[in-house]
Amino acid sequence: MATACDMKNKIQGHPCFGGNHHKNGRMHLAVAPKCNITCGYCSRKHDCANESRPGVTSRLLTPAEAIVKVREVMASPVVGPIIKVIGIAGPGDPLANEETFETFELVKKEFPDLMLCMSTNGLLLPESIDRLYALGLHSLTVTINAVDPEVGARIYRQIVYHGKQYTGVDAARILIANQFEGIKRAGELGLTIKVNSVLVPGINDDQLPLIAERVKKLGAFVMNIMPIIPQAALAHIEPPSEARMAEVRKANEGIIGQFAHCKQCRADAVGLIGQDITIGESACAVPK
Ligand code: SF4
Repeated sequence: MATACDMKNKIQGHPCFGGNHHKNGRMHLAVAPKCNITCGYCSRKHDCANESRPGVTSRLLTPAEAIVKVREVMASPVVGPIIKVIGIAGPGDPLANEETFETFELVKKEFPDLMLCMSTNGLLLPESIDRLYALGLHSLTVTINAVDPEVGARIYRQIVYHGKQYTGVDAARILIANQFEGIKRAGELGLTIKVNSVLVPGINDDQLPLIAERVKKLGAFVMNIMPIIPQAALAHIEPPSEARMAEVRKANEGIIGQFAHCKQCRADAVGLIGQDITIGESACAVPK
């Protein structure tokens, strides 16, 4: 497992992990449409709600189209030099789509200096981590909303795992076990790990410190607690106020570093965080 010092060195250049996000940019490739679970707050009309700004629908790319876009952006004299990271975060779950692996392979071959980054719900992480490591994955985000399957069952409606559908506590038990096992393996491999957790008031408030403690022990570097955007089956939930979010982050910062500048980027974001450009229209324009 990497030490805190190793980790600090590793995040240099990675804007989403605190590595100079005013100067270093990232490019997200929306190559992963399918998802293998159903979060209660996901309508699937838009990008993965665990990773993206609400209501955003990214334009889907094939791996072949994605590498063309990477070439285009990297050739831009203005944007190219700031791009340090290539990320895949949806619009579904990256690990439920073979296109994720194909795209990373293409990028690694042509742009070996770019860091590869991926976000996942973690269901397929244990069986995918060695393959991701072999492809040179640098950093990983896993969204974990519960430690106890009984609580998870109130957040996740179903999973499809190795061709079989599970619901309720059975579904949550498999998902949660795989999320922690995947993080453990990623920690052992020295990957830089961030954990996203969606605060669902009245359901998982007491789970957040338990998640924080467990992932810290397994090698996660930082935690990003996000407020629920109520929709789908959890549309009736009252979202937490900003004051409540600040309170929850503060309560957990003694356990694991809390993330402060996440903008829940869309699955096709390009540029500096919070100053995205649109690929195809203005790849050569100065980011605003
Ligand atoms: S992981 Fe959850 S929020 Fe993301 S696409 Fe799948 S069901 Fe929706």
